[in-house]
Amino acid sequence: MTGCRLGSHRVIEPKGALPQAAWRLDNSSRAYANEIACDVELLNIDSASFAQMRAQHGDDARAIAAHVVATVDERGKQHNAVTGSGGMFVGRVAHVGEALRARNDIAPGDRIASLVSLTLTPLRLDAVERVDLATGQLHVAGTAVLFESGVYARLPDDVPTAVALAVLDVAGAPAQVARLAAPGMTVCVVGADGKSGVLACAAARDAVGPAGRVVGIVPHGETPAARLLVEHGYLDALIVADARDALAVLQRVPEALPSLAGLVVNCVNVGGTELASILCCADRGTVYFFSMATSFTAAALGAEGIGKDVTMVVGNGYLRGHATTALQVLRNHPPIAAYFGERYGHVPSGEPSA
Ligand code: NAP
Repeated sequence: MTGCRLGSHRVIEPKGALPQAAWRLDNSSRAYANEIACDVELLNIDSASFAQMRAQHGDDARAIAAHVVATVDERGKQHNAVTGSGGMFVGRVAHVGEALRARNDIAPGDRIASLVSLTLTPLRLDAVERVDLATGQLHVAGTAVLFESGVYARLPDDVPTAVALAVLDVAGAPAQVARLAAPGMTVCVVGADGKSGVLACAAARDAVGPAGRVVGIVPHGETPAARLLVEHGYLDALIVADARDALAVLQRVPEALPSLAGLVVNCVNVGGTELASILCCADRGTVYFFSMATSFTAAALGAEGIGKDVTMVVGNGYLRGHATTALQVLRNHPPIAAYFGERYGHVPSGEPSA
């Protein structure tokens, strides 16, 4: 039996939808000829989604595990109904359907990371073994399905799994910065000390060169990542401000961004930061909203309301070659690789859960 290459055959509700937009997917282990079935080990929950669950359950790892299990049971996929976002998985290929056997980049037994969102990935969870509150990664036992159109990457040998997953989850950010930034440009990264922010800063530093300028905005100046970015010269200036407070950011702009940024990259995991990002952008510049907490309405009406002629780019998580680009940024920048290793490469803590 061959399914739709985009996965519509797995949609239960509403009929006629594609999997990302669907409320509920068929996550059964029935094998279609053009699907790849995987045994899942690790989920990297999207940061906006994990922050929402942390806001609801605090540090209660069991409650977060139960929340994820309930979502997956109800929807057949990890699709947070509040944030609309998902994440990605690491797993081992269990079966490659006969229609895809000509592919030479994947075979049963390979360990891969999915590069498509969990919001469109049929997922079944048998257990959540550990929740890492510090990283938003869940050690699980379960199964997932990749459609014919699905994108994946074989895990690299030289990067620990949890680090690779953290980097691949946000691979679109450094890859898009490498594409949009140019020598001599000023780039401003909002939420500079998170996963995507740190990688975006490194990609920006590489792209703008010595004549360019990279500025970061973080809510607290003393985080290890903020220190790293300043001490290793990835940032020329650091604005410590809550990006939800557009006026507070605006106050710091004349000093930190004497000429406004040609490219602003929004990497935060909370809502309400659209206007501050737009205010940091020069006329005819580009604001790249990588954040899943971005409101289209707030961005569009906010820019209009303050008369800003800027191009706004929605953070498409996929760019051709983005996984390779993101892992290369890590390899090219040993201080950043060391930081990711320390932050994500450890054995996760968190209570075991049913
Ligand atoms: P992360 O590691 O959790 O980083 C989030 C960053 O935002 C942190 O540096 C955090 O600072 C900062 N932040 C939070 N509140 C802030 C505020 N009020 N003002 C300024 N900065 C603030 O998240 P991530 O994994 O890099 O993901 C970032 C965003 O990208 C999330 O919204 C995520 O959902 C989204 N995402 C998008 C895609 C896509 O395909 N477009 C893919 C994956 C993720 P502190 O840590 O100091 O609080």
